[in-house]
Amino acid sequence: MASIISGTAAAEGLLADLTRDVARFSQVHGYAPTLVAVLVGDDPASHIYVRKKIEQCRKVGMESVEHRLPADCSEEDLLALIAALNADERVHGILVQLPLPAQIDSGKVLDTIDPRKDVDGFHPVNVGRLSTGTGGLVPCTPMGCMILLRSVLPDLKGKQAVVIGKSNIVGKPVAMLLLEQGCTVTVCGRHTRNLAEVCRDADIIVAAAGTPHLVKGYWVKAGAVVIDVGINRIALDDGRSRIVGDVASDEIGHAAAFTPVPGGVGPMTIACLLLNTFRAAEAQSLVGV
Ligand code: NAD
Repeated sequence: MASIISGTAAAEGLLADLTRDVARFSQVHGYAPTLVAVLVGDDPASHIYVRKKIEQCRKVGMESVEHRLPADCSEEDLLALIAALNADERVHGILVQLPLPAQIDSGKVLDTIDPRKDVDGFHPVNVGRLSTGTGGLVPCTPMGCMILLRSVLPDLKGKQAVVIGKSNIVGKPVAMLLLEQGCTVTVCGRHTRNLAEVCRDADIIVAAAGTPHLVKGYWVKAGAVVIDVGINRIALDDGRSRIVGDVASDEIGHAAAFTPVPGGVGPMTIACLLLNTFRAAEAQSLVGV
């Protein structure tokens, strides 16, 4: 019977450790690690995400500040705010909640964040560091995937890994992290032929396609570990809806272990954001801003 890798439990453990480390940091330095979240516009989902991140920061003893800008704000105003946050030594992490309104070039905005404060790990400098294995801040969801994977497979060397999905925020960085750990990695997208066959050879499958129940039981080798990143809302017959992953989890009892949805990778993402903020504050405290 496959074991379930609880992201909820892992995130709780990570946050408990972080609470202790933040208390020590604050005592030594006389200030707490500080995350600033920038929210543009009125997207209700973005408001919820930002509120959760701020609440969680405060729970572990970090400072967190929200900057709200109107939906019609100019790119220039947003870039000016980021420049001010970059220069403010009391700010250790900057997060710009995506998506941004159409008049703003998201790429330009993310490129403007000081890479040392880029706690989402999306800046090209951090992307480059990840791909060259030279440190930097790692995107939060991929980091969460790796923590969960290594909780059941501490040594990844020589494993065959398949990543389904090649987005810049999940698929590609997960693939880089797996490579770094010594896996042989196949990255798949919409145009991959024979996806089922490709998966059947894998010791590890990371599913990040955003397609409900894409990975069927017969795609998964006996004893494989499956990390399900997908978050998909599906309609039920009775008019309600429910969140499911990219994996048909009720068909993979022959796997060694898998992450459930919900309660798998999801809870790790915010925990890793906080970990990145702590690491950013530590690094800045050593060199000064
Ligand atoms: P995305 O849409 O940017 O990328 C999806 C990728 O999957 C693309 O590269 C696409 O080519 C590939 N893909 C789509 N359908 C496919 C198919 N049928 N076969 C093979 N490849 C296919 O999405 P994303 O931002 O990378 O997110 C992926 C999923 O992960 C979504 O469900 C998203 O909600 C979820 N997600 C979860 C978390 C979390 O905290 N757990 C964080 C980010 C994203």
